[in-house]
Formats: sequence, C-alpha cells, structure tokens
Amino acid sequence: MRFVADDMLGRLAKWLRLLGYDVIYPAPARDAQLLRLAQAEDRVLLTRDRGLAERCSGRKVLVESGDPWEQLSQVVRELDLDVEKGFLTRCALCNEPIESLPKEEVRDLVPPYVFGTHERFARCPKCGRVYWEGSHVERMRRKLKEALGWKEGT
Ligand SMILES: [Zn+2]
Repeated sequence: MRFVADDMLGRLAKWLRLLGYDVIYPAPARDAQLLRLAQAEDRVLLTRDRGLAERCSGRKVLVESGDPWEQLSQVVRELDLDVEKGFLTRCALCNEPIESLPKEEVRDLVPPYVFGTHERFARCPKCGRVYWEGSHVERMRRKLKEALGWKEGT
C-alpha cells in the first residue's frame, strides 16, 4: 500500500515512512496534482480537506485530527496497517528504502556514544542519513503500541 499526502500532513508522512510505507508528499501541491498522483500511481490519498477527499474516486483517508499521533493512529486503524514488518526500512526525509551498513563503516558517521552502544545501522542511499535504533526509536515503538492498544480497545 502506497500513499500520497497533502501538504498539511508532513509529520504523518514521515511517521508512515518510518513504518516502511512509500509516502509522497508534494509541497506545495495543488488538489488536481494530488488526485492525479493518487490515481496514476494507485496511492491512497491522505488529506485533511473534506472537499478534496470527496473528489477522490479511489481509496482515501479523511484525516480528522491535527495531532500527528492521532493521525497515525487513525490511518493505521482504518487501513489495518502492519506497523512491525517494515519498521525503520525507509528514509523519513527522502522516502527511499534504506540499506543496512556494516558497523565498521559508520565509525565516522555517528557520535562515539552511539557507535559504542549500537550494533545495527542503516543508511539512506540518497541523502546519506544514518539510522539506528536509538532511544527515539524506542519511544516511537512504545507510542505505536499505545496507539495499537487503543485500536484494540484495551
Ligand atoms: Zn534520505
């Protein structure tokens, strides 16, 4: 499942990319462009604009909240997304799949503390950003679990 997000949903787009989903986010984007991309590339339209959602004939989610976490919860819930499988496989900035990197190659690319305390690293081939499962990722996992708990009504 792939997505096109309107330009009010930049943070949601980044979170979805961190879950491994292909999300394009043309900004600024005209409505016609978003609709064309959704149709031409078979992408689910994510928008906060009711009028735009109504004009979209394909799959779409009319995002209700202004809060990125509630937005993510809504999309995960409505589309029953898998939040484990692709976690941390795509660059949040470029939407490119990231490639795992041998530890010895990141020595000069990350802070010494990070190098000393992590074993697994990956890099975006486009922008060169290095990813690792640091505390920010742990926090994200925890928040996601909360969001999913909410989905299951527990
Ligand atoms: Zn990148």
